[in-house]
This record gives sequence, structure tokens and C-alpha cells, in this order.
Amino acid sequence: MKLIRFGAPGSERPGVLLPDGKKIDVSEAFADYNEQFFTEKGPEKLSDWLENNAGTAPRVPQDARIGSPVARPSKIICIGLNYSDHAREAGMAIPKEPILFFKATTSLCGPYDQVIIPKNSVKSDWEVELAIVIGKKASYVSEDEAWGHIAGYCLMNDVSEREFQLEREGQWVKGKSADTFSPLGPYLVTPDEIDDVHNLDMWLEINGERVQDGNTKTLIFNVPKVISYISQFMTLLPGDVISTGTPPGVGMGFKPPRYLKPGDIMELGIEGLGKSRQEAVAYKPGS
Ligand code: ZN
Repeated sequence: MKLIRFGAPGSERPGVLLPDGKKIDVSEAFADYNEQFFTEKGPEKLSDWLENNAGTAPRVPQDARIGSPVARPSKIICIGLNYSDHAREAGMAIPKEPILFFKATTSLCGPYDQVIIPKNSVKSDWEVELAIVIGKKASYVSEDEAWGHIAGYCLMNDVSEREFQLEREGQWVKGKSADTFSPLGPYLVTPDEIDDVHNLDMWLEINGERVQDGNTKTLIFNVPKVISYISQFMTLLPGDVISTGTPPGVGMGFKPPRYLKPGDIMELGIEGLGKSRQEAVAYKPGS
């Protein structure tokens, strides 16, 4: 199944992208794709509901904006330097255990929304990533158990301001959390549709030029490992998003470095998880 959310920012409704390409509105039966939905085995119930109702459910309007496929979660957790070749381009050591950092949940946005280059930004950058959505509360889970805690996977752009992230004091969170810095989607794909999550091609283009080209097979810490690892330090709640790291080709790694300018177009994709596209725009006061 491919879960989508549609409508204006902040008032999105749940929908499903059917295998024939139709998008249907499921809001008459499901309130939203949020913690409660995943806690109450929402994807299983949704699948059952679709068997009887997919044909008669209202269609999503053609011109509807597509939002993040999950409602604002309790946490967006990211893994840093999780591809060895990206660690190298960043001039950093390959980590011995996963590096964790947060993004503010207010950074979440839709897959085709504009990305706002923050006020005073000089080094805004891109990162195509595989994101995991948690389906079942996870605390101290083993790697074997971790698979049972996954609701699905999404395409994510971990947009990053490198000066805020690396040249100011303290944690990376400052460079990761601006509004619109987490375009997620176009959809959440349930695990049954993904043959091998550790062998998915991924890419990102800037103005049509391919800058990132990778595959999840070169993850240092894989999907069950990162879920199990994070759950040793905090409880993962249904609907939480984990972004698993980026392959090489970020702007910071170019010589000289390249950063986003207003008007730049980021297009990205992961095999089986769809494509997204964001235009970078300048911050405007009051926006
Ligand atoms: Zn990242």
C-alpha cells in the first residue's frame, strides 16, 4: 500500500495511491496517519477497508497539494554519516556506532513544497535519504524484533544548513530544523511492497544535474540496527520518523562547495519509494 496525505498545510487528509494510479480519499474512515492510527494497527485496518471501499471512496482532487505522508510525529531522528563514502567527503571519521541527531518536527513538509532557505543562511544543502516510519512502540528492541516495528518507508530530503550545523556552537539540530527542511514522501510504502530495503538505488539532482547517486546497500548501520540502537536510548512511538543518512554528493562535498540559491530545483528519488521535487526560495519575513 502507498499512503498519501493531501490538502492545505496543517489540514491534510489521509488518502491512498492505488496500484492503478488513482488517488482516493479515506478520511471518512480514518482521521489521519498519526500516532493513534499506527497504534491501532491502522495499515492493517486500512488494507481491509480498501477491499470493500476502494471502488466507491471519493477521489482526491487532481490539483490537491500532496503533504507529508505522516502527520507531525513525536520525533524526527536522523543518523549522521551513515554512508562511509559520505563520511569521507565530509572529512569526518567513519563512526564506530550510529551518530544520532534530531530535526524539529516543525520542519516536516510535503514532497513538492518549496524549501525556504532560512534567514541568514549561507550554506543550505541537500541530502537524499531513506526514512523509516515506526509502526509499533519500540523500547529496547533487538535487531530481530526491529522489523516488526516498521510501518513503512519514505523518501526524505534531509535539508541542512551547514554553517548553522557545523560552525556554530553545540548540536547539529540548529542546521537541520528550519521550516520546510524535511520534505517527506510522496508516499509511505508499506514493507510488503519492498523486496530488499538494503538494495535500493537513490539519487538527487540539482537543476537537472545528478549530484547524488547511491544505494542503500552501502549503509554502515542498516535498518534493524538503527531501530534497535535508537530504542536503547529513547522510546520510539508509532508514527516517528527515522532518516537513515545520505550517500555522497552533498553540496558541502564539492570543491569548491555548492549551496542552494533561490530558484534551484532539487529532484530526488529512491527505487520503489517515488520521487519528489522542491524549489528553493528565499526567506521572506512573515512567511
Ligand atoms: Zn542526513
